[in-house]
Amino acid sequence: MNVLIINTGSSSLKYQLFNMDNQSVLAGGVVERIGETQGILTHKDFSMGKEQKTKKTQPIPNHKEAMLLVADLITQEIDAVGHRVVQGGEAFKAATRINEAVKNAIQANNPLAPLHNPPNLIGIQLAEDLFPGKPQVAVFDTNFHQTIPPKAFLYALPYEYYTDYKIRKYGFHGTSHKYVANKTAQLMGKNPGEVNLITLHLGNGCSICAIKQGECQDTSMGMTPLAGVMMGTRSGDLDPAIFGYLMDNTGMTQMEIDEVLNKKSGLAGICGLNDLRDIHARASQGDKLAILAVEMFAYQIKKYIGAYAAVLGHVDGLVFTAGVGENDEIVRAKALAGLSVFGIEIDPDKNNKRSPDPRTIHGSNSRIQVWVVPTNEELQIATETCQVLGSNPTS
Ligand code: AMP
Repeated sequence: MNVLIINTGSSSLKYQLFNMDNQSVLAGGVVERIGETQGILTHKDFSMGKEQKTKKTQPIPNHKEAMLLVADLITQEIDAVGHRVVQGGEAFKAATRINEAVKNAIQANNPLAPLHNPPNLIGIQLAEDLFPGKPQVAVFDTNFHQTIPPKAFLYALPYEYYTDYKIRKYGFHGTSHKYVANKTAQLMGKNPGEVNLITLHLGNGCSICAIKQGECQDTSMGMTPLAGVMMGTRSGDLDPAIFGYLMDNTGMTQMEIDEVLNKKSGLAGICGLNDLRDIHARASQGDKLAILAVEMFAYQIKKYIGAYAAVLGHVDGLVFTAGVGENDEIVRAKALAGLSVFGIEIDPDKNNKRSPDPRTIHGSNSRIQVWVVPTNEELQIATETCQVLGSNPTS
């Protein structure tokens, strides 16, 4: 069964085609700068046993043109399409086969994810047009977090803000947390229901999750992906009074402050750079703000680990994933330093070793296992698409 995974952003379209009979990638790529003067399509085909790359630079005025270009390059039969949808709200507890009612429900969640859900819906519509009759499944970033109990998902605001305006923690990166949690349990020789894990998705966006016996109990992102630990360009948790204070004292509009919090804060806000490779290079030259940015980042991660250890009571493993989590031994070492009180000790040699494979980095005396597990959100979406459709995707 060939499953095409589509992930549409406001100006991009990422896709991957899996043969789910053996979980191999047949093709994949990305269309970037949709709507700008020059769009870029990068397509890779793996079906001949080696990578064949196609790159096109041309105006790509909208997502429809992008999808047409992609469909042109995919030579394989497609049996089903799985879509990443960012915000499912409370309506969707699990991946769901798409029909009119599901599309309406996704649209109803647009106010909660104005930058993400509308392009996701465009992707669904285009895939329906291009692959008529093929089943389509939505896998929501928020699905995995729907097990978070009210005491953890509610904000201490007037309760009717929750009932009237749907203000609550939803959490994001759910597909990634679920993938690495399941994979780590498997690598530990256990079922997901047998282990308690703290998963740390640390990329340009960052979120941390407390997972008890396979079910998410809490996560650091909130109603939007702005909350939690500081990120590449996002502030993470703030005193909420800062927003009004900035409006009153800087003359910035709500939109301008929003832009600062999302695009000019986090690591970039502190030291001007958002990529940790660049930040470490600066820090090694003695740049004080680069050093401070790394210290702040590691400190905030450490605080969440402590909080989530308390939430879970018993922790079997920590799991680092995504660009920083998988590759940055400095951040991992700093975030875990001094946590032997919790039974967490890393082995510096294992931590310093680079590898694309899942691996442990804890020392022999560590009570809690520490894993580095590469994430694969596309494969998780493809897997859930197959699960929703059962064995007969064309029914
Ligand atoms: P992601 O959002 O998961 O693609 O992660 C992107 C981020 O990962 C980049 O902005 C870098 O900060 C970080 N990153 C990627 N590769 C490395 C590396 N080799 N060492 C340190 N950080 C890395």
